[in-house]
Amino acid sequence: MRTLDGLIKHGVKGRRILVRCDLNVPLSEGAKRTVTDDGRIRASLPVLTKLLDHGARVIVAAHLGRPAGPADAAYSLGPVADRLAQLLGRPVEMALDTVGPSARLLADGLGDGALLLLENVRFHPGETSKDDAERHAFASCLALLTGGEDDGGAFVEDAFGAVHRKHASVFDVATLLPHYCGDLVRDELNVLRELTGEPERPYVVVLGGSKVSDKLAVIDSLLPKVDRLLVGGAMCFTFLAAQGHEVGDSLLEADQIEACRALLTATSADGTPKIVLPSDVVVAADVTEEAAAEIVAADAIPAVSKGLDIGPETVKTFAAALADAKTVFWNGPMGVFEIAQFAAGTKGVAEAVAAVDGLSVVGGGDSAAAVRALGLDVTAFGHISTGGGASLEFLEGKTLPGVAVLDEA
Ligand code: ADP
Ligand code: MG
Repeated sequence: MRTLDGLIKHGVKGRRILVRCDLNVPLSEGAKRTVTDDGRIRASLPVLTKLLDHGARVIVAAHLGRPAGPADAAYSLGPVADRLAQLLGRPVEMALDTVGPSARLLADGLGDGALLLLENVRFHPGETSKDDAERHAFASCLALLTGGEDDGGAFVEDAFGAVHRKHASVFDVATLLPHYCGDLVRDELNVLRELTGEPERPYVVVLGGSKVSDKLAVIDSLLPKVDRLLVGGAMCFTFLAAQGHEVGDSLLEADQIEACRALLTATSADGTPKIVLPSDVVVAADVTEEAAAEIVAADAIPAVSKGLDIGPETVKTFAAALADAKTVFWNGPMGVFEIAQFAAGTKGVAEAVAAVDGLSVVGGGDSAAAVRALGLDVTAFGHISTGGGASLEFLEGKTLPGVAVLDEA
């Protein structure tokens, strides 16, 4: 795999370098949308700064959310361009399109050490198309913005949060230009390799977040490797249902109950169950700041209530299960942390993960945002990954298209 430093050694001054970044950040609602968590933008700065400092003409491709169609204004990268310029301390030129007249004009006119951000690549149907030819055609247009290989064009893959997608700007474009692995992708992969190699024990995984169906595959492949797996978030209710408990109006994936029941039988060497579920939960009738919240036992959730956080007793149990861990991977908030009265579980678990004397890795866009939003000391964690889906698929042992393509010459 060729590295960014290798590219820089060859000299990048005056060359147009296409960089795929992960700038998929949460925005505020309303007329003037602003970036509410800039973690992924900050994580993209080292590679961009390195290239700009060496006089490259940098063209950044990135996506934002899942726009319904082209030019879905709510998904414009405009607010991201503003924040990027602020953090870089340099001007950011923003194209009005992805590979259209605006992008071509600005790419052709780029000066040495200047940066152009293309509009949301998902505005173009070729980006996510299942049709190889359609994706390839869009990737060719992206590659052409650099002038192509003969004109010094090159591609740097730095969007770790997107490498699990076989998308035009992540995968296909690397088949069309000399390609290099960015520092963020390199660092993320190095940490995740520590988790899949011979992690120091006890190895404890904490999973939460919204959908159990998204995470069953990773639970399946992690269970044999971990000593304990702590389950919170909305997904714990499908497991509680699998144990025969009523979960009221909580999020439940009925079609996953059987699969969860099978997973619950896993035990460690000493015969204790590997999966640890909440013993108490915070419930309310509505997912609002005003709703009256109460703490109930996990086997006594009222029929009209939604489980929205793990309870204080569970936080203690989870913290105790993490106390002697030497390796921890945490993905998915323990509750609806965006609302203060359902944030205590996530905060408590985050503090326990931060206190771990060993390697602690946080993966997942919302989990990383929670760590920052709840005011925790980010330096207390071993690594905060920018990629949720990507890190989970790596841990499952799946091939990441955006990484595999870099291995090819
Ligand atoms: P990540 O991005 O870290 O991988 P997910 O996207 O899987 O995490 O899940 C994050 C979302 O899960 C958050 O928006 C949070 O509000 C939601 N969530 C967590 N617990 C619950 C719950 N009990 N009920 C409803 N939503 C929940
Ligand atoms: Mg998420």
